[in-house]
Amino acid sequence: MNSFAASRSTAEWKAIDTAHHLHPFTDHKSLAAEGGSRIITRAEGVWLWDSEGRQLIDGMAGLWCVNVGYGRKELADVAHEQMLELPFYNNFFKTTTPAAVELSKKLAEITPEGLNHVFYANSGSEANDTIVRMVRHYWDLKGQHRKKAIIGRNYGYHGSTMVAVSLCGMGAMHRQADLPFPGFHHVMAPYWYDYGGDLEPEAFGKLAAKAIEDRIKELGADSVAAVIAEPIQGAGGVIIPPASYFPELQRICKQYDVLLIADEVICGFGRTGEWFGSDLFGIKPDLMTLAKGITSGYLPLSAVMVGDKVAETLIEQGGEFYHGFTYSGHPVACAVALANIRIMEREGLVDRTRTDIGPYFQDRLREAFADHPIVGEVRGVGLIAAIELVDDKKTRRRFPNYGEVGALCRNHSFANDLVMRATRDAMVLSPPLVISRDEVDELVRRAKVAIDATARDLGRM
Ligand code: PMP
Repeated sequence: MNSFAASRSTAEWKAIDTAHHLHPFTDHKSLAAEGGSRIITRAEGVWLWDSEGRQLIDGMAGLWCVNVGYGRKELADVAHEQMLELPFYNNFFKTTTPAAVELSKKLAEITPEGLNHVFYANSGSEANDTIVRMVRHYWDLKGQHRKKAIIGRNYGYHGSTMVAVSLCGMGAMHRQADLPFPGFHHVMAPYWYDYGGDLEPEAFGKLAAKAIEDRIKELGADSVAAVIAEPIQGAGGVIIPPASYFPELQRICKQYDVLLIADEVICGFGRTGEWFGSDLFGIKPDLMTLAKGITSGYLPLSAVMVGDKVAETLIEQGGEFYHGFTYSGHPVACAVALANIRIMEREGLVDRTRTDIGPYFQDRLREAFADHPIVGEVRGVGLIAAIELVDDKKTRRRFPNYGEVGALCRNHSFANDLVMRATRDAMVLSPPLVISRDEVDELVRRAKVAIDATARDLGRM
């Protein structure tokens, strides 16, 4: 049994971690001042245990990824068997492996019509990097050598590599790395709560789509390669576009001959109650990014789904595409992804999210916070949600120290054994799709404890 946890005390782990480990998205000075990281040692279903024996509800499914829940022996067994049979072989130079072949067929079946080819990578960031290279190559092959610009949206999150950050609409990330690279542009997010003003959501949705049209016209359609959009902007604060947004965006992309990329890294694999966010909003993307839920986070894997239009050009005219990663289509990750999708199908996890546990979760959240003094809005679909904390509910006015209230609430939540994340002052939730009704009740109870404590700190309760 590979159990690190019993081998050292919590204090020792913390000291070593502080001495040697630089964490992603972490302010290490404040982490050290707080005494170091909490150490998660095991997990089962929707529950995590830390090294001090406390039991937390994982309201975030890890990082929006453990869709089938923790503790699936079946996935461990598949990985074990694949490792014994063929732990690694690559897909370069005219070879492939059965696991990569089978997964490709499965992905072509479950993703929206017209997406029939797969290019593998290891993370969402790498998949998005791959897409940028692929679409630029595509337009070159079409003889449109100026068609290279990519338009994303503010608050969009597409990853942490240099190109993925350039796609992101995150100012703080840009500033740390002198990004975005030239050729990457950003427009308003379809964030009705902040920007909608007096407009009805549907009218605002069209306005937000028009921001993309305006940018295409400004840049010149002959220089715009693609628009990238998460169906629901996850890390940006679970921003759900009005229903009018994507049909309009789809029309615009078609009119100006611009490719539409759906970044489904969070929305994919049942999160919204459909297999993909594109299914929920009726999007017909030319390319799609998959990661996270593809293996439920059990192993790193990502995929670019390539639509027929692009794939045919690449295959017919492309020659060699000088791109790939050693672990593109790693057989163990592919075998686990396939087994993960089979679990989702066998247990009906997507249907359950759409018709049963998703609506239950959404109803409980709305009930709990309808009259809360600092909650302006609860929004969500399926098993993804955000709770907006605001100073004034009527006018949607933010707290003066925007962002700090969310961080305060997140700390209360963590101290209360619920993992709930804060994006600015939006508290976000995305639990595993296997969560039970009792567990939803407990999650919502703990979320309320945290939000009540925050309101008390602010003198609002
Ligand atoms: N796209 C989206 C929509 C994401 O949410 C993320 C990660 N949160 C990424 C891309 C990047 O994925 P990774 O962290 O695996 O590189």
